[in-house]
Amino acid sequence: MSRVIIIGCGGVAQVAIKKCCQNSEIFTDLCIASRTLSRCEKVKNELEGKTKTNITVRKIDAEYVDDLLFLFNDFKPDLVMNLGMPYQNLIIMDACLIYGCHYLDTAAYEPEDINEPIWREKYEKRVKEKGFTAYFDYSYQWEYDSKFKEKGLIALLGCGFDPGVSQAYVAYARKHEFDRIDTLDILDCNGGDHGYPFATNFNPEINLREVSSAGAYYENGKWHSIPAMSIHQKYVFDGVGEKDMYLLHHEEIESIAKNYPEIKRIRFYMTFGQSYLTHMKCFENVGLLSTKPIMYEGKEIVPIQFLKALLPDPASLGPRTKGKTNIGCIFKGVKDGKEKTYYIYNMCDHEQSYKEVGSQAVSYTTGVPAMCGAMMILKGLWTTPGAKTVEEYDPDPFIEALDKYGLPKTESYNPVMVEDNDR
Ligand code: NDP
Repeated sequence: MSRVIIIGCGGVAQVAIKKCCQNSEIFTDLCIASRTLSRCEKVKNELEGKTKTNITVRKIDAEYVDDLLFLFNDFKPDLVMNLGMPYQNLIIMDACLIYGCHYLDTAAYEPEDINEPIWREKYEKRVKEKGFTAYFDYSYQWEYDSKFKEKGLIALLGCGFDPGVSQAYVAYARKHEFDRIDTLDILDCNGGDHGYPFATNFNPEINLREVSSAGAYYENGKWHSIPAMSIHQKYVFDGVGEKDMYLLHHEEIESIAKNYPEIKRIRFYMTFGQSYLTHMKCFENVGLLSTKPIMYEGKEIVPIQFLKALLPDPASLGPRTKGKTNIGCIFKGVKDGKEKTYYIYNMCDHEQSYKEVGSQAVSYTTGVPAMCGAMMILKGLWTTPGAKTVEEYDPDPFIEALDKYGLPKTESYNPVMVEDNDR
């Protein structure tokens, strides 16, 4: 028996809601709370009569702690799943601490307007100290670790696929396959085709901010920053075929480096097609990726938010997307004194995801782990309090749940290593 609030009702949230409703024994009472009430009502209506979970809906603007507390005091959640925007992570964490419930999200906090002096100062300090320039990082949320610990509550950070399952794969590999891991490459391939010249598979604002940032990887205790999209490789992905992939900075590199200091090199690659990259460069060149508000006809607008309004809604891509995603981790390390390599990944089919829950596979691969992570907390399988990332918990029950709820793992003991493609 548990009471859960899901904040947001976009692509990821809609999958998580439907998955929670397939698991009504755990998720007995669900409140869908988002900015646009009609979206919440539509999902509730779709599920009516098909689930034993009691669903209520509420309009909320997660920018305001008082509004969140009003909702929490009324609904009395055990856990709040923040599946809206990362800009509100800290506000929702504050509300969870004051009310006294667990918290979960799928993306690291980043300030909405990085030019605000209070954030700029913190950001510049971090760039100097750590050496990567992306706007998102875990330091803001790790500051909450002791506060959650003191209250005996969990804030589970980044429980989607990557971040999320990627870190569970690291913990799993270390527990079952290696005595020591030396190198890790996280490969995120979306082999899906939605037929648009340009669309993002998750929130366009967050996606474009992430992808246009400088890339970075971690090696021998140091961050190495590179110009965006300047390291490129080809890789043949199971179920997809050959794709171009580019080295990006990604938040789980930061937490894995902290929690597994033995790993000498951690890199993250994501695949992109040429059309995506050409459009993104063009948007960047004309200033459409800027987060700095400008005046337009007497009204203040944020260019990247205006662009978001023009682009297809990721939740609408489901019926048009064909192909598969393939996301996983390739390791090199040592077991029983011998060097070995190991690849663990999941393949997810866009059309099958749509058939099951009405969403494309990028939303599916994020919404399912969010539900499974919530289940780990609610079933008391993950209990260590604090602001934690997925690799800090036992991976076994989580990976078992992913297998059961639609994201089974595939393993290879003789993978093609990324560096083998350099030749
Ligand atoms: P969408 O844009 O589809 O959905 C966002 C939802 O949040 C919308 O329903 C939106 O409301 C709501 N929202 C936005 N601002 C507020 C607010 N102030 N108060 C209340 N609700 C609000 O995004 P996605 O579903 O694609 O992505 C959700 C999250 O998942 C993002 O943070 C993204 O970065 C993360 N993600 C993580 C991945 C991972 O593997 N870890 C992969 C993909 C995504 P409205 O309908 O009014 O716009």
